Amino acid sequence: MSESPQPSSLAAANPTPAGSMADLSEDDFMDAQTTTPTPSPRASLTHHDPTLIEEANHLLSSKLEELPEEDEDFEEEDGDGDPVTPNFEFDPADMDLLAIPGKALDKAEEIARRVWEAGWTVVHHNHLPKWLRDNDFLIKGHRPPLNSFLACFKSIFRIHTETGNIWTHLLGFIAFIGITVYFLTRPSIEVQWQEKAIFSAFFIGAILCLGFSFLFHTVYCHSERVGRLFNKLDYCGIAVLTMGSFVPWLYYSFYCRMEPKIIYLVLIFVLGIGCIVVSMWDKFAEPKFRPVRAGMFIGLGLSGVIPAMHFVITDGLVAAFQYASLHWLLLMAFLYISGAIIYAVRIPERIWPGKFDIWCQSHQIFHVFVVAAAFVHYHGISEIAEYRLSFGDCLEERSQLLMLRTV
Ligand SMILES: [Zn+2]
Repeated sequence: MSESPQPSSLAAANPTPAGSMADLSEDDFMDAQTTTPTPSPRASLTHHDPTLIEEANHLLSSKLEELPEEDEDFEEEDGDGDPVTPNFEFDPADMDLLAIPGKALDKAEEIARRVWEAGWTVVHHNHLPKWLRDNDFLIKGHRPPLNSFLACFKSIFRIHTETGNIWTHLLGFIAFIGITVYFLTRPSIEVQWQEKAIFSAFFIGAILCLGFSFLFHTVYCHSERVGRLFNKLDYCGIAVLTMGSFVPWLYYSFYCRMEPKIIYLVLIFVLGIGCIVVSMWDKFAEPKFRPVRAGMFIGLGLSGVIPAMHFVITDGLVAAFQYASLHWLLLMAFLYISGAIIYAVRIPERIWPGKFDIWCQSHQIFHVFVVAAAFVHYHGISEIAEYRLSFGDCLEERSQLLMLRTV
């Protein structure tokens, strides 16, 4: 989808000679308010052109006269991405900038400082810097660069394009911490230490994946450097969850067969680490590589087809469903793959751009599917472990099978 700057309604409302302050586009005005609230505004106010200052005075006065009296917070921009002005106390009489240029600078600095302290308002996609433009089908409600971890974490409790992404995986993260604590604190008569160790691989994967994801979506707008770092951690989390999910499944499915168990564990770890290495590549996070990312992680998950086929060939299809939780594995694969496809094609916002800016966008659906798939897998490996442990140890199982064959 092509992006074009919005028409400059602000400049049109204040017709003045060319090259003047009133020629500032709406984008410039938005940037001044939301995307560059630097703690040191004086650096950008080094010129002392009296005409410019007078026009700035006029422009600010006319905009500030339109302000509501007692509005505590910023308003959101309108449908065209037009900015609204933040609420701060202002006396136009103090704005005689022409008379005392030094005072004018102080006043401008004071205004910038107050805008900085007051917080931020959501912005139109067109007003985002390039590094924050990930999905151009989400039109409004984006966070601007915040440059502060505190502001990023406070934004968890505000409504914007990332709110749903943050909460879907934050709640999943909390849920899996709860499940892990419950599971690991069971008395050994109920759950033995071997089971705790094997299940921990999956729990660690789920907690890291959901934790990195919620952190990434929270601090994504901090700055380009921080966003890129956490984006890589987010991708690593997916690979770690996939590897961790394989451990209990392979362990219990090939319980008495050491060779295939070791080979498949090594295989998934080599592939998973390969995915992590690729994720470290800076360009991998670029929007154009979205289908490649989806494909790579689908491929990593689908490598499970090889041990699953092995089990079906050696033990038969019925045993695969009965003792290897193949049905739960298939449901999990369906959730991961359909989630990844929705993520890659960006539906529904691709069909109705601007209608899913805040809720039900493709990334949130993908997140919900990931959490659901992790719960399905937990259920599946719990079932398979129960079956497996009810057989007794491998020697007993072998004698049972031998008896069955001789009968
Ligand atoms: Zn995500």
